[in-house]
Amino acid sequence: MRLYNTMTRTKEEFKPLKDKVVNMYVCGPTVYNYIHIGNARAFIVFDTVRRYLEYKGYTVNYVQNFTDIDDKIINRAKEENTTEKEIAERFIEEYFKDADALGIKRATVHPRATEHIDDIIEFIKILIDKGYAYVVDGNVYFETAKFKDYGKLSHKNIDELMAGARVEIDEKKKNPLDFALWKAQKPGEPAWDSPWGKGRPGWHIECSVMSTKYLGKTLDIHAGGPDLIFPHHENEIAQSEAAYDQPFSKYWMHIGYLNVNNEKMSKSKGNFFTVRELTEKYDPEVLRLFMLMAHYRSPINFSLDLLDQAKSAYERLSNAVVNLKHLVNITKDRELSDEEKDLIVKFDEYKKQFEEAMDDDFNTADAISVLFEMAKTANANLNGNSSKKLVEYILEMFLKLSDVLGLSYKNAETEIEDEEILRLIEERQKARKEKNWKLADEIRDKLKERGIILEDTPEGVRWKRIR
Ligand SMILES: [Zn+2]
Repeated sequence: MRLYNTMTRTKEEFKPLKDKVVNMYVCGPTVYNYIHIGNARAFIVFDTVRRYLEYKGYTVNYVQNFTDIDDKIINRAKEENTTEKEIAERFIEEYFKDADALGIKRATVHPRATEHIDDIIEFIKILIDKGYAYVVDGNVYFETAKFKDYGKLSHKNIDELMAGARVEIDEKKKNPLDFALWKAQKPGEPAWDSPWGKGRPGWHIECSVMSTKYLGKTLDIHAGGPDLIFPHHENEIAQSEAAYDQPFSKYWMHIGYLNVNNEKMSKSKGNFFTVRELTEKYDPEVLRLFMLMAHYRSPINFSLDLLDQAKSAYERLSNAVVNLKHLVNITKDRELSDEEKDLIVKFDEYKKQFEEAMDDDFNTADAISVLFEMAKTANANLNGNSSKKLVEYILEMFLKLSDVLGLSYKNAETEIEDEEILRLIEERQKARKEKNWKLADEIRDKLKERGIILEDTPEGVRWKRIR
């Protein structure tokens, strides 16, 4: 298996530090709002990486943090006249609703910055003791000039970083690239006690501290959005390697940028999409498929037209599953014919192609093409006379490989099921009109068997699901 390492800018053979265990850290959301589709792309991609590693037999310790104290959270709390804690709790809950809908598995641990203040203080003390950090008026800064490898992830020297970056101007800092580890309390802001006075942690430090606490001093994979390479990940490397004198992460993975209608997504341009508003209109798995139809490192362009295309593509896959499930119900057990044996060989070959695509730096675009081929071949070669064993074999493989991509087709199936129920209700109405009471009762019983109860009301028939 090979993956592209941002640090070396090459595809490398994947070899975790410990056999069959992967310690993986993904920078999580700042919880002051609903997640947008740019956030979603990162979380979907790295969830897929995790799923594939698990498919390959690795135990993945997956840590994704919540940044629950930050300027944006403080501002929103002020706007709504509430506490930072209330804002954070609310949007953590909303994050889980979106993530669950998108098939993003829960992390092994979801640590929060405010629950690790003591660990953060201890870490900052190490940096001060080793001469990498300095205190000014209750603030603590990391001195980037002291860390000789600063800029190694971005492949830039200090001058290039200064020229290219929008660095915070702060008279208290020795150098504009220095960054805050601890921020002195400003009036009205939440604060914790520290050896340097009341204040709160800077943003970068929480990831160094929490990744080490839950995964150790050297991670296998550290991942995030492209905008995190500098300064966030560069700063995490500086802190962690300065503190512990060992590499912070063996592999660094970053996704490509996501544009909307070929422009940078921004609220002011009116081309800003949250996951929530899209999944109210589209099956969340359509959005997931859209994100995985491009290679994760390629830039992608989002538009509603392109999402509609992904919807048709998704329906091709989900219809294949519904058909296969239907065939499992109606086919009979018997020995495989020679042609059917050849079909098994063909599907084993598809599976190999799928794995080869994923082994090559998680090429989900090619892996999805293989799923389409599988759907096409299944539709063309299977029917009610096929062997049940064969149909089951193909269905199981299709679902297992889809699951690697986080696709379960569960909503599509209920939609189709609902259509079927509506059709039966209509047939029953017709039978009643024709006074064919026997047929009407038969349909009612058939629906009852499937857990559907009918109620005849003056406004027409209502139905509800009882299980
Ligand atoms: Zn981070």
